[in-house]
Amino acid sequence: MTLAALLLLAATAPSPHAEPIARLRQDVVPRAQSIRLELDPRGADYTGSVAIDVEVKRAVTDFDFHAEALSLSRAALRPENGGAAIALKVTPVGSEGIVTATAEVPIAPGRYTLAIDFTNDFDIRAVGLYRLEAGGAAYAFTQFEAVDARKAFPCWDEPAYKIPYKITLVVPEADAAFANTLEESSKVADGKRTVVFRATRPLPSYLLALAAGPLETVAIPGTSVPARVLFPKGSAALTAEAVKMTPPILAALERYFGSKHPYEKLDLVAVPEYWYGAMENPGLITFREESLLLDPGRATDSQRERLAVYLAHEIAHMWFGDLVTMAWWDDLWLNESFASWMEDKITAEVFPEFQSQVTQVGSMQRVMQGDARLSTRAMRQPVRSVASLLQSADELAYVKGSAVLAMTESWLTPATFRKGVLAYLKQYGDGSATGDDLWRALSKASGKDVTGVLRSFLDQPGVPLVSASVLPDGRVKLKQSRFVNAGNQAPKQTWKIPVVLEYPGSGEALVQQRVLLTEPETTVKLEGAASPAWVHPNGGEAGYYRWSVPRESLAALTKDVKRLSVRERVGLVGNATALLGAGEIAGDAYLALLEGFAGDAEPLVVGEVVRALDGVRGTFFSEADDPGFSALVRRTLRPALDRFGTSPRAGEPESVTELRPDLLEGLVVWGKEEAATRQAQELAAAYLDDPETVPPSLAGTALELAALGGDEALFETYRKRFEAATTPTDRARYLAALGRFRNPELVDRALAYVFSGPLRPQETMRIPREVADTPVGRERAWTWMTAHYDEIARRLPADFIIFMPYFAAGCSEARLSSAKTFFADPRHAPPGTTSELAKVGDGVTDCARLSSREGDAVRRYLAAP
Ligand SMILES: [Zn+2]
Repeated sequence: MTLAALLLLAATAPSPHAEPIARLRQDVVPRAQSIRLELDPRGADYTGSVAIDVEVKRAVTDFDFHAEALSLSRAALRPENGGAAIALKVTPVGSEGIVTATAEVPIAPGRYTLAIDFTNDFDIRAVGLYRLEAGGAAYAFTQFEAVDARKAFPCWDEPAYKIPYKITLVVPEADAAFANTLEESSKVADGKRTVVFRATRPLPSYLLALAAGPLETVAIPGTSVPARVLFPKGSAALTAEAVKMTPPILAALERYFGSKHPYEKLDLVAVPEYWYGAMENPGLITFREESLLLDPGRATDSQRERLAVYLAHEIAHMWFGDLVTMAWWDDLWLNESFASWMEDKITAEVFPEFQSQVTQVGSMQRVMQGDARLSTRAMRQPVRSVASLLQSADELAYVKGSAVLAMTESWLTPATFRKGVLAYLKQYGDGSATGDDLWRALSKASGKDVTGVLRSFLDQPGVPLVSASVLPDGRVKLKQSRFVNAGNQAPKQTWKIPVVLEYPGSGEALVQQRVLLTEPETTVKLEGAASPAWVHPNGGEAGYYRWSVPRESLAALTKDVKRLSVRERVGLVGNATALLGAGEIAGDAYLALLEGFAGDAEPLVVGEVVRALDGVRGTFFSEADDPGFSALVRRTLRPALDRFGTSPRAGEPESVTELRPDLLEGLVVWGKEEAATRQAQELAAAYLDDPETVPPSLAGTALELAALGGDEALFETYRKRFEAATTPTDRARYLAALGRFRNPELVDRALAYVFSGPLRPQETMRIPREVADTPVGRERAWTWMTAHYDEIARRLPADFIIFMPYFAAGCSEARLSSAKTFFADPRHAPPGTTSELAKVGDGVTDCARLSSREGDAVRRYLAAP
């Protein structure tokens, strides 16, 4: 899966009181399954039957399978070699969808077919097997990961049960039907279309997928297996980007894995109601409509980049996750870590213009920020509840996991790392494996202690800090400790860290020297120079760790910054932000450093400065605007905007196009700059008048910025445009902009629209999130969320309602205190909520401490003439 920017999903500790997940007993296991569903998406319910080939391993009178909230009307066991069917009585047990089937006579060991008929309601919240209406037509789609297949039909819904599935769909004659495999036959009778699909390769139930309705298709030429884009009728014009991008991405993955796409087809389906970014169902990858369907010629670079990343991520899963599946949900993080690591690698290869190897360092900075908190969790740990299943596949799993794999690849060399990966895939193809199986394969391929290194990063929480100082004799002293923000006591921990020391040597190029740091402290002789002016403890920013050097060494390094790569400069800014939080850099020195980096020639470095300024504003000026801060923003971002150009120029780098709206927004929102405000308003007016006249990269930002001072008439215009939008992009733009009005009455109107407007499930939190973008708005959004919690909980699937503590994030201890009261009520605290609140709490405490510690230094700096 790829996460969507629904809410800030972040790393959390598991809730200590959660019960372990109930597992199926293993006396009776499935070997193959047929599923027949008769569904008309226009109706509220559907009927179905399953025939599951099971092996009874020892004599039993009862056994388990999954079927959650289904009406089972008949269940019987037919011996494979003939003989009388055994009637079964089915009884739900517990709350996780397990059903126990009981026979009146003992069931002898052997092979049987378990036949069950059932009826069920469609879900309507975009999970399980659900229905929706779009453009006046009805559709049915599925999203099963992690444990929702059991809500659609009876099955053994655990990832280690990988079996062939044979699916038959009976739909209205006018509808099309799709599943993971190609059609075997299709026939029409009595107004119904019966489509029989070929049996799948062995799959876990969570990877099954269906789609039905008046869907249209466009072929993707140039792929090794048949590939198509599927979409709701009428959107054919929006498929060109996906058709163009898929073949080279697939080819690059096939080259890396040294094998053809493992499944017989590759359909990409655009789903109007969808919570995640995309989901790796083999043969039928589902995408949130707005990620897949882009307006050709009007798509922004960032939309194209997102699509490339999603495609690379999901198709990488075909090998890693689908072909080899985690044995149990404990290793779900590995699926996501690997696919995320691969998405960077493949995107960098196929679309170098997106500079994904650099943007990845930026994401790593954000994740290390969360991982510095004491409430963070170890990546690899038992999942304890169904609710925490997807919580374990959070940003930490995607970004930290991918960064740790990238560090390991750099340490082992890409060729050796690949050798280990290929051996692992070969050994476990069509089966299941664990993280340890992969570490073993990598250790074997490299002859190095990969297991020791990875365990130290994955089995213990937090991020290490590596400090380096040059000793008088020219050697370098290295120390490691757990990185925490000032005011927190760091637990004693040691990692095995592949450190890359970088320093100036005798030649032009910098010297890089590898050291495996396994002790709390060690001394290293530099091979390439004696007593260099500076040593960078994270050369190439290749390692998942924070770093620090003595003040004079940092000054020398900053002076020599032009010799650092873009990746390293982005990392340096992010690392400085971390050191500010740790109390190692003072507020005034930090602002001076940001001002310096704002002049960097590389847009991605300036982008990191913009994010840092966002942090400064959130920490020190969360309650009121500050003229000194506005002036700092104007004198740093205006020259940057002028340097890169206020409007797009033909042939400019993609990074410039993506940075420009951020600069514009910073100047308007923080800098209160008139020229930028005017530019945004003019662009918004032009867009409303004729979208073709506005550069796509600036359209969304301009609409949002114009809303800040916008009146009721503008609000109504946006609302009508949202409701009449003909492309997913326009729909998303107007909806986001509706959340940016600052007139208090219009804020209230926007929040009321969350329930009164024709919003799709995944759009529910968009307006409140935009409202919460300012300190005042955050307070308003918090009040709104607490007042409407029950209504929100009815619209959001269980996996998402646990993120409501997010609305208490920020720097306000008063709001945190109300949050603690609110979420202490069990009605507001489904499993998983407590750990989210702990994380938010740590963030608020750190922010408040930083604000009081460095506030004076920051204000002094800003007041200086
Ligand atoms: Zn994924």
